[in-house]
Amino acid sequence: MKKPEHVILTSHSNQIYNKKVPLVWGAHTAEKRGPIIASQTPERNAIGSHSGSYAVYRALSVASGQFPRDYRPDLAFTNPTRPIGPFSSWSDPEAIVSIDPWGADITDSFPKQLARGTKIMPTIAITEAQLQIPEVQKAIEDGDLDIDGDIVVNETNVKVCKAAVEPVWYLPGIAKRLAIDEGELRKILFQETGGMFPELVTRPDLKVLLPPIGGLTAYIFGPPEQLSNPDKELTCRVHDECNGSDVFGSDICTCRPYLAYGIIQAIKTAQKGGNGLVVYFRKEGRALGEVTKYLVYNARKRQEGGDSADNYFYRTECVAGVQDARFQELMPDVLVWLGIKRIHNLMSMSDMKFNAMQRSGIEILNRFNIPDHLIPDDAQVEIAAKKAAGYYAGETPAPTSKDLKEVKGRSYDET
Ligand SMILES: [Zn+2]
Repeated sequence: MKKPEHVILTSHSNQIYNKKVPLVWGAHTAEKRGPIIASQTPERNAIGSHSGSYAVYRALSVASGQFPRDYRPDLAFTNPTRPIGPFSSWSDPEAIVSIDPWGADITDSFPKQLARGTKIMPTIAITEAQLQIPEVQKAIEDGDLDIDGDIVVNETNVKVCKAAVEPVWYLPGIAKRLAIDEGELRKILFQETGGMFPELVTRPDLKVLLPPIGGLTAYIFGPPEQLSNPDKELTCRVHDECNGSDVFGSDICTCRPYLAYGIIQAIKTAQKGGNGLVVYFRKEGRALGEVTKYLVYNARKRQEGGDSADNYFYRTECVAGVQDARFQELMPDVLVWLGIKRIHNLMSMSDMKFNAMQRSGIEILNRFNIPDHLIPDDAQVEIAAKKAAGYYAGETPAPTSKDLKEVKGRSYDET
């Protein structure tokens, strides 16, 4: 029988992870910056683990004997299908703080360390795909989208380049962006994860955390190489996950219709020689989670007077303690990573997203709200409440508080 392994605590620098590999966030080259190493090896220089929340499933695989702990991934043929960057923003330590700009092509960026046997894992993967989306197919059928043979390849398929990005948090930069103290941030991250990462409080020399949360995917229509050219028209939607609507078509919100509309407009701009970009963040239920979201739905529908727009945000706050936990301050990092300086058409009504993009130095020329005919009846509550709260409303005036009382959602007794 195999001898059981000792548990080695991660919190003391003389016990483990003592061969620190230098990491200079914002350095001018990948070589000077150094690789992010969150592998369970002595050469580690980051807190946390790869694959976001899926690290827990990896632990189950190891625990059940299906996966050797010391496995070294064979990364042959996995490098990006299209090059992204590097851009000058990659070497600004404050411009990108929540992803690793050098995380895609590690074989090119860190050949010496890899040759030495350092276990480095990519945190970004870039690939190609063809999408089959019913709303896009309907737009093709209706003659709203042309088949150009290059982007829309036939009646059913659209070509896209997509990048999956895992979060890599440079803690001093995150703290600065959110205007909080780094020590306080580290302490509360430690406490609120039930003490999951002791190094947050015992190893202030380790500045990078790979948090156990979902990442994002960037869907790029048209050549990714020209995203950094501000003269090429860019249509962009940044979308936060809403599984109930995005995948299952729940009609209480506008998520899927707005997403599909954004995709169709993105494709149209790419067909004109520009680019379309749809960024999909795993921030379910305003990053409060789906259980919280359904509790809020129940509270909204069952409250006295039923589901009305004047109580839309209030009910979320009653259940969750906050209205929103998405921290859009960190969202523009992916746009900055792609080299974007100007968005010609922003397919979003969110004032939080708009303000965050502007603060990151991205110029936004036009904003587009969701066309009225795409709003499901039961989602009128959401849209009216958001417009009253300062979301972009286009030409129409924002609703008054009297209007909000009158915008009602379906009750559970109605069919
Ligand atoms: Zn939704």
